[in-house]
Amino acid sequence: MNLVFLGPPGAGKGTQAKKLSQEMGLKHISTGDLLREAVKNQTPLGKKAKEFMDRGELVPDELIVALIEEVMPPGGGVILDGFPRTIAQAEALDKMLSRKGMKLDKALLFDVSDDVVVERLSGRRVCPSCGTVYHIKFNPPKEDQVCDRCGTKLIQREDDKEEVIRNRLDVYRKQTEPLIEYYKDKGILIKLDASKDIQEVYRELKRVLAS
Ligand code: ADP
Ligand code: ADP
Repeated sequence: MNLVFLGPPGAGKGTQAKKLSQEMGLKHISTGDLLREAVKNQTPLGKKAKEFMDRGELVPDELIVALIEEVMPPGGGVILDGFPRTIAQAEALDKMLSRKGMKLDKALLFDVSDDVVVERLSGRRVCPSCGTVYHIKFNPPKEDQVCDRCGTKLIQREDDKEEVIRNRLDVYRKQTEPLIEYYKDKGILIKLDASKDIQEVYRELKRVLAS
């Protein structure tokens, strides 16, 4: 099964993708995580991507499509989280899958209001070492500001600060939202109410995938 998780930044795509990929044995591909890793390791891709990411702009399509080509398993079985984010990326994905004799099964739209997005992103904290994602109010670590899994002090992503959040939402509306129609036209869009708590969204996600 090949799934796309679509929705604004902070909708909870990564949180749900981690749970579902473990339970269903799918590969979780987060372009945001892959890009942050590339920036940290100062790879050629990371050097090119950094300035776009810091501003909350999208990294150019050709870099992202090349990255996906690299990490896509030959037999599929993926949750694509944060990709595609433009129509050009969606078309490139369709071509890539059909070349390998595969297709997308479903595109899950994580539907939330802007207010929820801002509250989730501004309270998001991440472990700079193992990447675990927390929320100061909705999903806090056991010990204040310390990663449960590896004991590292948590940080706030630079692009989760107020000024950049607004720009990321604008970018989402202009460049990514057209994908909703794109997948609706293909008959594979499923809308989820992502404003509920983490467990409830997960239950709903599994329910719609089973139906
Ligand atoms: P969020 O978790 O808030 O949805 P991501 O971690 O997915 O954000 O993405 C962080 C940044 O990485 C984006 O603001 C953008 O600069 C870049 N990025 C991630 N995925 C893509 C993509 N598919 N196309 C272009 N840029 C991307
Ligand atoms: P995305 O990958 O869509 O950018 P994340 O999964 O990183 O979103 O979630 C954004 C923030 O909101 C994180 O701090 C996460 O812990 C928190 N979060 C995720 N899902 C929910 C939920 N259903 N209710 C409340 N907070 C949530």
